Amino acid sequence: MLDVHDLHKVYAGSGRRVAALGGLTFSVAAGELVCLVGPSGCGKTTLLKCLAGLLTPTGGDVRLDGRRVTGPTPGTALVLQEYGRSLFPWLRVAENVELPLRHKDMGRRRRRDLVADALASVGLTDAAGAYPWQLSGGMQQRVAIARALAYEPRVLLMDEPFAAVDAQTRAELEDLVRGLWRERGMTVLFVTHDIDEAVYLGQRVVVLSASPTVVREELTVDLPDARDQVGTRAAPRFAELRTQVYEQIQAARRGAAGLGRDTDQAPSTT
Ligand code: ADP
Ligand code: MG
Repeated sequence: MLDVHDLHKVYAGSGRRVAALGGLTFSVAAGELVCLVGPSGCGKTTLLKCLAGLLTPTGGDVRLDGRRVTGPTPGTALVLQEYGRSLFPWLRVAENVELPLRHKDMGRRRRRDLVADALASVGLTDAAGAYPWQLSGGMQQRVAIARALAYEPRVLLMDEPFAAVDAQTRAELEDLVRGLWRERGMTVLFVTHDIDEAVYLGQRVVVLSASPTVVREELTVDLPDARDQVGTRAAPRFAELRTQVYEQIQAARRGAAGLGRDTDQAPSTT
């Protein structure tokens, strides 16, 4: 469904040149839940922005159902890490969730139903009339998820969405995402720097190298579909998988050190 082929992104400007993506290739099938994991600064956000059509790659392409992505696509929704900055503080929760629907051709009634349904899905029906700043961080991130759900995306892109919440809330949100994925049959691409989270959530884990980023390895997570925070994380197979991912990331880091990263400071030689 989603095909990323030889994707390159070079940021250039102000005398600086950063090769963020260096030829990424991978595919995601319809209805899959894939986690992308890679070291900080490796280009994960850059990649998601290219997939969402918010950023134009400098090489290669992204195809959705065979069609090249050249701009924001109606079937794709993106949930960002910084929920605090992605919600409008002067709009109530329901209004925040409804906002993107105003660009869709639908009646008011249908819009309201979608908002109510999305808020119910994330357990926030009672908070519909509140302002984002009256909610905890975890609840704010639920609002951001509801906003994406109301949009009825076929592809849900999530960029380290739980990096800023406490461990307990994070566990709840992870289970929420898996539940929504199973219920709604969306294709989910979940970016994280957290190895355990990637293995717990994904059907597959794509391990990225340091930038200029390529796909280092793809692992199938052969854990049962019904997962739970205690049992799954205690399973021997879970430990094996997380070790494999960990070793790949360590190797990626070493490789990057050998190549003289940091790219941020690297002079433009190529
Ligand atoms: P990640 O999300 O994995 O932490 P990013 O995609 O945010 O990584 O960034 C990858 C690299 O690209 C970093 O070196 C970062 O400094 C650089 N970068 C990101 N956005 C820009 C930009 N708008 N202009 C220049 N460099 C950028
Ligand atoms: Mg990022």
